[in-house]
Amino acid sequence: MSQTPQSIAIVGAGIAGATAALGLRDAGFDVTLYSDKPRAALRDEVPPTGVAVLFGRSRDFDADIIEDLYSVGNTTGISTRLYSGEGDERARVLEFNPDYNYVSQSVDVRLRADDRIGRFLDRGGKFEVTTVDVEALDGIAAGHDATFVATGKGGLASLFDVDTERTHYDEPQRRLLQVTLQGVDHTGDAFAYRNRDGAQNAIFNLDAQNGEIYLGPFLHKDVGPTWSFIVFAKPDGAWASKFDAVDDAASARAALLEIFTEFFPEDAPAVEALQNIEADPFSWLKGAVTPTVRKPVATTRGGHVVAGLGDTVISVDPVAGQGAQGALIQASELVKAAKEHAGQPFTAEWLTEQFEKYWELRGRAAVEVTRLYLGDPDYATHLELSFPAAAVNADVASALFGLLSDPNPLLTLESRDDVLGFIGAVAGEPADDVLGRFEPAGTFSSAEKVGV
Ligand SMILES: Cc1cc2nc3c(=O)[nH]c(=O)nc-3n(C[C@H](O)[C@H](O)[C@H](O)COP(=O)(O)OP(=O)(O)OC[C@H]3O[C@@H](n4cnc5c(N)ncnc54)[C@H](O)[C@@H]3O)c2cc1C
Repeated sequence: MSQTPQSIAIVGAGIAGATAALGLRDAGFDVTLYSDKPRAALRDEVPPTGVAVLFGRSRDFDADIIEDLYSVGNTTGISTRLYSGEGDERARVLEFNPDYNYVSQSVDVRLRADDRIGRFLDRGGKFEVTTVDVEALDGIAAGHDATFVATGKGGLASLFDVDTERTHYDEPQRRLLQVTLQGVDHTGDAFAYRNRDGAQNAIFNLDAQNGEIYLGPFLHKDVGPTWSFIVFAKPDGAWASKFDAVDDAASARAALLEIFTEFFPEDAPAVEALQNIEADPFSWLKGAVTPTVRKPVATTRGGHVVAGLGDTVISVDPVAGQGAQGALIQASELVKAAKEHAGQPFTAEWLTEQFEKYWELRGRAAVEVTRLYLGDPDYATHLELSFPAAAVNADVASALFGLLSDPNPLLTLESRDDVLGFIGAVAGEPADDVLGRFEPAGTFSSAEKVGV
């Protein structure tokens, strides 16, 4: 690096901006992080952007930026159940409980970002509170050697053109409800009727008509061990309208409980034991994401180049948990590349090249695994084969959830034969033999019988 460090501006202090800011500061750059809210408000006066579970592999990239500060919220597997049909026709189709073969970590993203901002400030980073509009961005970009926009899905993201070849949807595929609840610790038999390892595991319920629900152990910024829920409601299913009346944490819990009582009665008593977090009125969120990939570089009014980071350039539905993970990998790779590049100009070509490397490393696969978990028609064959195979073979089940950690193997599975070959290779026996053993589950164990 030259004697005078190059200056870098980052706009937006969510997980993407805070991670890049800390990494670039540690790499020796003169970094200013612009935020529309003071640090304390980012932590205590907004909901978390998402649950932001880090499923394995992304944690390796994150370790290049910051040491692992958290021991609560780690899980090693996921109890999965699939239901189909309505009313009397409703069937318990399949169930499996694979080990991930990695450790996933679910920590309040407000806490993660705040820990990064704290270190960034301690190490000489500059934090400016201002809402950056397009005019201000022009001035910021003019005054820095490189400027990154990490303002999330809305607002300044529209400066970056939508990449129509990489974007598959023009409307949200799910309505989302997130809520964190407390009252049952992680050490006992919580959800043990579902999981061999109790609170070491998360839970994933799929409902063919209505959507999916994820729930898992979570580290909340104020009260510690808690349980985080995400409901992914299909827009035309029976759950979506239940979100209409949700306007606070209590009504979010009520909607959640209503869905469990009606659709997942086996789990309802365990969920009912959990309560709202009085200390955090922002412990819930509802919304929807239109999965969108944007061009990575834009030009301000005055002709200055800016590059996008995190949700600003790739926003995915959270059903496969790829958003924050991708942001961390993108930021971590950017920091390494910028360090190598120090002293040279951060041109549009260089910034685009870095994004393309990230796209090949993770971005493309993150988009595709999200389409798989959304049940996109392009992946009908994969779903038809892989879920029954997972139900009868633990290695296939682990491989299916291994895609949340590293989605790249999915890119090699283009045809039915590819998927059958994958199942056969993972299971160590012909795929037809694996699939031949599948029988519908019929019934599921229940919290009512064994308690929580
Ligand atoms: C329900 C749900 C569940 C999720 N679960 C997971 C999961 O399990 N795993 C996973 O990896 N991902 C998950 N995600 C996605 C993940 O939460 C996001 O991808 C990630 O948090 C995005 O971070 P970001 O920093 O890019 O954006 P944001 O968190 O949106 O941060 C943007 C920041 O910029 C600030 N800002 C905005 N405009 C301006 C402006 N004009 N000037 C200055 N500052 C500005 C905002 O205040 C904010 O602080 C989930 C998302 C949702 C909705």
